[in-house]
Amino acid sequence: MVIFIEPHCDDFILSAGMYFLQNNPVDKVITVFNSNGNEETKNLCKFLEIKDYMDLGMCNLDWKHPIILFTITEIKNRLSFIRKEDTILTVLGVGNVAHKFLVEFLINTLDVNNFIFFRDFPHSYDRMKLKEIDFAFYTKNRFKLVNKYGDNPCFKTKIDLFKKFYPTQHSLLWFEREQFSSFVEEEAFRYNLIHKNLWI
Ligand SMILES: [Zn+2]
Repeated sequence: MVIFIEPHCDDFILSAGMYFLQNNPVDKVITVFNSNGNEETKNLCKFLEIKDYMDLGMCNLDWKHPIILFTITEIKNRLSFIRKEDTILTVLGVGNVAHKFLVEFLINTLDVNNFIFFRDFPHSYDRMKLKEIDFAFYTKNRFKLVNKYGDNPCFKTKIDLFKKFYPTQHSLLWFEREQFSSFVEEEAFRYNLIHKNLWI
């Protein structure tokens, strides 16, 4: 099975929408953290004929409320159906604290052969959110870029799907307007196995 694990309800379409639209199958989408829009991903999956959707409903993490109100064990149990031969797609974990937490959690918990990390859109493209550190710093040594997806029309389709299916997330269109205004490719990363550790 190919499973996309998204931190929040819009991350699959925003970070890997063009990957999917260009005929790369996804069998299941899982939303980990709770927000008003979880039903929206469910509806999107129905529209895109992705047969399986799962909502873990965990309390969200952010800079103001960084306390983890749920146990690691709970998420681990909910994801225990995942098998070594499944392909896990998720975000890269740059520019948002909940994304970062989820990626570290998945890397350290899941025993799967095939992991692909999609650069976080729009967060990782927002220089303010990177605190003036170059994006390359976050991937240096630890991850390597393996593929790029998308083109201009496909980007437009992705943004149109976001607008149509995610009314609760429309504030992003204002707060991240620079990122939404022109085409950027989606970037897929894999582990650089020699440098799995974050700090080397
Ligand atoms: Zn998110």
